[in-house]
Amino acid sequence: MAKSGESIVRIMPAEEIVARGGGQAERLLWPQRASFFAERAMRLRQLSRKDSATAGYLAVMADVAMAQQECLADFPDVPLPDEKTLDHARQLAIAPLGATSWTRHEAWRDCLRSLVEKLRGKVADTITPVLDKLSNLSDDELEQQADLLLSGVSKGLDVACAPFIGAALQVYWVHMITSCDPLREAEIYAAHDLDNEPTCPCCGSYPTASVTRASGSVAGQRYLSCSLCGTQWNMVRIKCSNCMGTENITYMSLDVAGPDQDESDEDAEPARNTKPATLAETCGDCGVYLKIFHTDRDPFVDPVADDLATVTLDVLLADDGKIRHGTNLMLVFSNPEPVSSPQSTQ
Ligand SMILES: [Zn+2]
Ligand SMILES: [Zn+2]
Repeated sequence: MAKSGESIVRIMPAEEIVARGGGQAERLLWPQRASFFAERAMRLRQLSRKDSATAGYLAVMADVAMAQQECLADFPDVPLPDEKTLDHARQLAIAPLGATSWTRHEAWRDCLRSLVEKLRGKVADTITPVLDKLSNLSDDELEQQADLLLSGVSKGLDVACAPFIGAALQVYWVHMITSCDPLREAEIYAAHDLDNEPTCPCCGSYPTASVTRASGSVAGQRYLSCSLCGTQWNMVRIKCSNCMGTENITYMSLDVAGPDQDESDEDAEPARNTKPATLAETCGDCGVYLKIFHTDRDPFVDPVADDLATVTLDVLLADDGKIRHGTNLMLVFSNPEPVSSPQSTQ
């Protein structure tokens, strides 16, 4: 998969500084229940047709995402954060739906089993043993696997089953967020300092990647996208989301098409359309990187899907000694221990 030899990875200077200005960008963008996983499925399908190296995996994940959308539509009523929990979160500026602290309802396991059944006969035969294993795991075993996955612990984690368990947990969290109107009120998050927040204000998980927005009141703004609940939080650009450093940020990409990929050069109009939509924002201070996807260069990017479709960039960055910061529940590495372990924020 990795291209070796020539200098595919291109080190880029820092992006243009995007001042916040007088306009107020929305601080948080919430997942849209009606289309959240369906749009991801469409993107995965589209990417699977482009990328021969990971086409098979992307196609399976497209089916998973479509099944997630169906499971979300059928998700039963479950306990949601009450007024006391929300008030506690607001006062302490902590996540109200903490990935490792929220008491999970068993409905997420029913969701997983339903998801597995929806996938039978749809995905390649090679996936069938994994689906069979998932069907045979006991409730306790599923809860243990969920605990490991949500706390970022790879030891003991079944990496083949993890993407499906992660998929069901995503549905559960998106269901809770989209079902609980008070949870999404701006006031709950008023005390959060999002520019210095490495984890999701709503569930405390690490981001998969960040996305820049191209239109409306959020044009030019960068949002970090939560790996579990899909919530996006606004963080200034040119900043390491791991150590919060701003001095030694560079950008790398796989793209070699454009003659001028200097993001600070706004006059380079002829090269604009050739600029890569996917970059790795790397930090010289702590050595980690997080991918950033630009929707003005590709309006259909999805953090999870595009992250999966650009693993070649991860391979090259690993060869370069860089440490991945993004968490993608659809692709779990068995080792080394992830640099970003989701933590309880309660
Ligand atoms: Zn979250
Ligand atoms: Zn850093």
